[in-house]
Amino acid sequence: MNIIIFGPPGAGKGTQSKFIVNKYGLYQLSTGDLLRKEIEDKTELGSKITEIMNSGELVSDEIVSSLIEKFVSNDTYKNKIIFDGYPRNLSQANNLDNLLKQSKQKIDIVLKLSVSLETVKERILERQTLEKRADDNELVAIKRYKTYEKSSEQVLDYYKKSNLLKVVNGEAAIPDINSEISVLIDTIKGWL
Ligand code: AMP
Repeated sequence: MNIIIFGPPGAGKGTQSKFIVNKYGLYQLSTGDLLRKEIEDKTELGSKITEIMNSGELVSDEIVSSLIEKFVSNDTYKNKIIFDGYPRNLSQANNLDNLLKQSKQKIDIVLKLSVSLETVKERILERQTLEKRADDNELVAIKRYKTYEKSSEQVLDYYKKSNLLKVVNGEAAIPDINSEISVLIDTIKGWL
């Protein structure tokens, strides 16, 4: 199965993705991690995207699409992907559907983690101390939340229409979120 984990920055997408990876043997495809790696490795692409990422805006669809293409078409990951941070707008959602179709795959479930702006701010400040991410400070956090709000509705509507969207309370305790997600995935898998 292929899963999308969706939600604002600081919603816990990374944490929940790792839980799903361990429990169900999937592979996490985090576009944010891939982009940060480009910056860390000081590649040409990395130098192009540093400023935009640090400002809290989205990197261009073309750049992100080229990063995920290789992953989606690789047989090792076929039907075992958890998309973390992609798609982020409607054009990325359409692009993902087309890419998946080319290798006879589809999305099986979209898990949306809901959290308030207050929680996002708190968590991002915590993460700033722990991980020292260059785009984790309060002002950029607010900007990233606003960027998310601008484009997320269309994406959510898109998956609601295809009956794939499940909303999970991202404010709950981590083990409770784990359990809720497990029930949703097990149901899709026909285990429940
Ligand atoms: P994340 O780690 O998912 O919070 O992403 C960190 C930053 O990477 C975002 O604020 C964007 O600048 C960029 N980014 C990650 N995923 C995408 C995407 N799907 N489309 C455009 N930009 C992205």
